[in-house]
Amino acid sequence: MTNSTRQFDVVILGAGASGLMCAAQSGYRGRSVLVLDHAPKAAAKVRISGGGKCNFTNINASPNHYICANPHFVKSALARYKPQDFIDLVDRHGLEYEARELGKLFCLHRAGDLIQILRTECDWAGVELELGVQVQQVSALSDQKGYLVLTSGGVVQCQSLVVATGALSFPKLKATDLGYKLAKQFGLIINETRPGLVPLVFDNKWLTFCQQLSGVALDVRVSVLSGDDKNKAPSFEEAILFTHQGLSGPGILQVSNYWQSGQGIEINLLPKLDVFDEMIALKEQNLHFHKWLNRFWPKKFTQAWLAHFPMPERLAEVSHETLKNYALFLTHWALYPADTAGYDKAEVTLGGVNVDSIHSKDCQVKHQPGLYFIGEVLDVTGQLGGYNFQWAWSSGFAAAQTV
Ligand SMILES: Cc1cc2nc3c(=O)[nH]c(=O)nc-3n(C[C@H](O)[C@H](O)[C@H](O)COP(=O)(O)OP(=O)(O)OC[C@H]3O[C@@H](n4cnc5c(N)ncnc54)[C@H](O)[C@@H]3O)c2cc1C
Repeated sequence: MTNSTRQFDVVILGAGASGLMCAAQSGYRGRSVLVLDHAPKAAAKVRISGGGKCNFTNINASPNHYICANPHFVKSALARYKPQDFIDLVDRHGLEYEARELGKLFCLHRAGDLIQILRTECDWAGVELELGVQVQQVSALSDQKGYLVLTSGGVVQCQSLVVATGALSFPKLKATDLGYKLAKQFGLIINETRPGLVPLVFDNKWLTFCQQLSGVALDVRVSVLSGDDKNKAPSFEEAILFTHQGLSGPGILQVSNYWQSGQGIEINLLPKLDVFDEMIALKEQNLHFHKWLNRFWPKKFTQAWLAHFPMPERLAEVSHETLKNYALFLTHWALYPADTAGYDKAEVTLGGVNVDSIHSKDCQVKHQPGLYFIGEVLDVTGQLGGYNFQWAWSSGFAAAQTV
């Protein structure tokens, strides 16, 4: 330690969603807090999230909306800081927001309004924020006297060190693996990581099929084909979007969290109908099949679908057996993605710091007092819909109570 070593109660690495929340709440507890980030601006992901409007929480958030090797881990933090707590916070700042489908809340104007709120909270709580700083080395002082952080701006000593450096998605927004490196340094296990909430890409004939429909969206129900009925992944009734690489849209992003390389996905193209019954009725009335499909699908999709999977225009001559099989096909269309679009396009990272060594109450490392991991760096991933930010707020708040 040198004379120029600065002292803080709490140093937080990462000025993203969880780091800023933790910083403000720790500051309000009377702790001196320094937040360090290598990016030139704080909370870059908040700014671009939700199409620039940030889906900042979901009023229905519950542990069921998260994927973690230990599904109980998220319960404590989510119970201590609920969506309503964050809504109360933004209400105090007069943020204008809108409720969208399935409990999602978005900023009405721009995500930057939310960043301003987080920064104001940090100012009010007396937090110091240093951006554009490289974190070079972290070490634990002997006798549990805290931590030393060597940075491009000098040396900082603290009692509590909070790692809030996020995960691997969107490297162009300065995402790095620093959190995982620090976790390993302190003997923690990293569960295998992979891109989540990410488009799926296809090759061969399905790539051509998707490309010709690029820009077309469909309301479907989609799930991962698991073959294991007991551990069935959830299905999502949301839109899918055809792209030049394959499939995207909310329904696909949702299933990507559960998809593993080699698996198929299953799409119900007419989720609101009893398709076989409807086809029998069509047969009896001898109506045009493609016109019926056009009632539910964009014309372009009907055309492409029938070109690939022909069916006589009038169903009168088609056997019940054939109709049954075709109805099954329409509701259980199986596709095999070649891959995901990778971390460049992924909203989140699945896997991360194994939570068995982390106290669920405050996200502190069990065998390393004073060291905390919060937010996405942990092996906690939310579904699409504001759940990931809620985890950032809840885990940041939980750590702030004991740092
Ligand atoms: C395009 C996109 C859209 C999204 N939309 C939504 C949405 O609408 N709703 C939702 O709930 N979730 C959304 N997410 C997910 C959400 O942004 C993250 O889950 C959330 O930001 C995680 O918070 P965090 O604090 O753990 O990490 P981040 O918010 O990623 O913050 C990590 C911080 O650590 C800093 N850092 C990283 N490495 C270093 C280093 N080596 N040295 C110093 N600092 C470092 C980074 O610069 C960053 O500021 C979206 C993500 C993306 C990419």
